[in-house]
Amino acid sequence: MSELQFPLKNDTSRKIIHIDMDAFFASVEERDNPELALHPLVIARHPHDTGGRGVVTTANYKARQYGIHSAMSAQKAYELCPKAVFMPGNHEKYREISHQVREIFAKYTDIIEPVSIDEAYLDVTHNKQNIQSAVKVARLIQQEIWQEVRLTCSAGVSYNKFLAKLASDYHKPAGLTLVAPDEALAFMQALPIEKFHGVGKKTSPKMHELGIFTGMDLYQLGEMELISQFGKMGYSLYRKVRGIHDSPVNVTRDRKSVGKEHTYGNPLTTENQVLAQLRRLAEEVDKSLRRVAKHGQTIVLKVRYADYTTITKRQTLNQYIRDKDQIFSQASLIWEDVLGLEKGIRLLGITVTNLDPISYENILLPLWEKKTE
Ligand SMILES: [Mg+2]
Repeated sequence: MSELQFPLKNDTSRKIIHIDMDAFFASVEERDNPELALHPLVIARHPHDTGGRGVVTTANYKARQYGIHSAMSAQKAYELCPKAVFMPGNHEKYREISHQVREIFAKYTDIIEPVSIDEAYLDVTHNKQNIQSAVKVARLIQQEIWQEVRLTCSAGVSYNKFLAKLASDYHKPAGLTLVAPDEALAFMQALPIEKFHGVGKKTSPKMHELGIFTGMDLYQLGEMELISQFGKMGYSLYRKVRGIHDSPVNVTRDRKSVGKEHTYGNPLTTENQVLAQLRRLAEEVDKSLRRVAKHGQTIVLKVRYADYTTITKRQTLNQYIRDKDQIFSQASLIWEDVLGLEKGIRLLGITVTNLDPISYENILLPLWEKKTE
């Protein structure tokens, strides 16, 4: 600890729960057709029907025994277990259940951060039922979810989001794991480094090269060393492995659109200025979309001229807008239609609307299709 000039502060006063539905899509299908539970079940279209394309969104626990997991290509899953049952997902149905589950959370707290369709963080430090024990809240939530939608979830309870997530992953399915402040260090030190949220396929080989295989190995490394190896992530891992992660549970409303706009005291008068601002807005919108795990197909450009006339123009694509570059290029295309620099521009705004939650299928399918072309 000698290299620390200032002792790190650790706030252990919060009570955070991470809830993760167990094999969500597959469990829903098993619930609605119990026959399916007898087989390895893969939620993906059968590779025979798609020419080998498609990606596994969820595999039930029987299918996982064959090494099948989400984000794997359906073709690979088929090779691992040809007798598995393949089913296309019913995202409408999953979304509806996800809303029902969120309503159960809302009986306890309004501080809910949905991470994806089947995962959320809850801050229950001051909860609506005045229950002291966060473990008790987690158990009640698990029971209510079971009673209302007949599905199991795993819960992790701790004083920060990072630990709560590690905890929910610790016992699955239907697990409930508490990591109390005085247990946090030992809990993390015993974990394989791959379990650390954020240490993915790209980072873990580099970790291994440096001799980091467990939380304990990570804990041994100095702050400067971690920063020089992993940049910002090293900074944050140095703290996380010491139990420090102050990120609040971000309440995100179920938004239908995400937009950013800027007003300019000195009106923009050149094409380059406008394009630079559109790029900046595209980046901001993209960042917000990722934060709420949503994407949309419609982009809206808003332009207010120096004389305060305002126009909005929208364009809908036949597929989801992928990233900041695409947001920018679509916005520039609309801009070319609008133009009118002579008046000077006082405000620019970009909004992506008609949003849907991002699911594995939506993100990975296009990537996979590209690869097989
Ligand atoms: Mg899950």
